[in-house]
Amino acid sequence: MDDPLADDCCSVCRSSFNIPCQANCSHWFCGNCIMEVWHHSSTIQPCKCPLCRRQITLLVPGEASLRRHHDPEVAEIKRKVQTYNRLFGGRSNGLIQRMQDLPFLLRRLLRELMDPQRSLPLVIRARVYIAVK
Ligand SMILES: [Zn+2]
Ligand SMILES: [Zn+2]
Repeated sequence: MDDPLADDCCSVCRSSFNIPCQANCSHWFCGNCIMEVWHHSSTIQPCKCPLCRRQITLLVPGEASLRRHHDPEVAEIKRKVQTYNRLFGGRSNGLIQRMQDLPFLLRRLLRELMDPQRSLPLVIRARVYIAVK
């Protein structure tokens, strides 16, 4: 699943997704909403998923929004998400957190291997290597 379900909605704003991003817990949010959640908590710490309360250490924009890369709004969200991933993605959260993230990361990696046209952002690839190391 590279994009949220069409009949699903963002649990933060309760409307349909705008530039959906998937967190490492596999929940989807609008790019803007999850960034709001982060800014309302502490920006020096990763925010927790509003649904499952797991710490969010990775955000991945959906495929549909990535295809709209010429869109300035998408570019803005991508930039914020990359900053977020840089801040919190490289952090070691202990083995348990890494093991929990692994299926998600491997799924993304596997898809990339099956479809070389799609390239996985470098930060995620790095995360996979850190996680399996
Ligand atoms: Zn939203
Ligand atoms: Zn969650």
